[in-house]
Amino acid sequence: MISNLTKGDILQILNATDSEIINYMSETVKYRENNLITYSKNIFIPLTEICRNDCGYCNFKKDPTDPDVIILKTKEEILAELKEAEQYGCKEALFTFGEDADEEEAVRLKLAEYGYGKMIDYVVDICQMTLDETTLLPHTNGGNYSYEDLKKLKEVNASMGLMLENSSSRLMELPAHNKSPGKNPKIRLETIENAGKLKIPYTTGILIGIGETREEVAESLLAIKELYDKYGHIQEVIIQNFTPIPGIEMEDWPEPSFLDMIRTVIAGTLLFADTDVSIQVPPNLNNDTAQIFLLCGADDWGGVSPVSPDYVNITSPWPGIEELENLTEDAGFELIERLCVYEKYINKEWLNETLLEKIANLS
Ligand code: SF4
Repeated sequence: MISNLTKGDILQILNATDSEIINYMSETVKYRENNLITYSKNIFIPLTEICRNDCGYCNFKKDPTDPDVIILKTKEEILAELKEAEQYGCKEALFTFGEDADEEEAVRLKLAEYGYGKMIDYVVDICQMTLDETTLLPHTNGGNYSYEDLKKLKEVNASMGLMLENSSSRLMELPAHNKSPGKNPKIRLETIENAGKLKIPYTTGILIGIGETREEVAESLLAIKELYDKYGHIQEVIIQNFTPIPGIEMEDWPEPSFLDMIRTVIAGTLLFADTDVSIQVPPNLNNDTAQIFLLCGADDWGGVSPVSPDYVNITSPWPGIEELENLTEDAGFELIERLCVYEKYINKEWLNETLLEKIANLS
């Protein structure tokens, strides 16, 4: 039974070779309900490039003394970007930024200048401004949050996200996470669990190729599945491949193999086969190979922006929407746009009146 995939079953998929891989790929086809592949047209706005963590694969975080650093964008700057995104037909305002940036004095000074004491209050106000003054729906991905902070963010976000990366605390000893207290999987799982308790439609995922074992990949997928089974709030699981970028600490670290990505996407698909959780693979990190993941069960390309770069993968531009449509159709599927919040969460159980009204107006 697919719904009862055990760690051993997942490991068999992750260790598959030769025709076994093809057989597993065929297995995923049985569970595909339609030939639709979704994406969300978004604008990616990094509120700050300051972060308390220092991940070995990071190409986003900047030092406060960097002459090009964004310490904290002003409301005016953000609103201008949101208005531009409206012109491009974007429906999602993706606020992704460094974790606990207000631990840094430079950020605290900016917050004080803007009339705020804490980063969380500024983020909530930015989301509120997005709802009040634009047609876009906020989706915040700003690292770990406490239950109380998530409660505030829930009221002004259509959905939220946080990559689990991996559930193994062993990775806290490797270059990927050894200087990143916020990547402690216990804290991340707690944040994702609290989002479940608060009924926040949520996106999470795992990062492949940062030193994890296949066993740890299996455990990570199962950890996400367990939270989904308990709270039903996981709307999509991202399977993201580590990509070395010149200048990062892990620039010489090997990329995960193409087959490991294939095996992991199949494993994720089969683990969630009896649910409506989407499996997402970022197309810009798999330029020449993205189509194959659709044949392994992936059914979502994630956020794609016609107006802003992917700031966390700055050397990997998103494909244009037309290009995405062509490569999706070439593989035998149809590309359709979705909102940042999935259809099944668009009701009073998950979203407040204001958000529901905004969404009704969008459609
Ligand atoms: S990857 Fe994210 S959490 Fe890690 S240092 Fe960069 S911005 Fe911070």
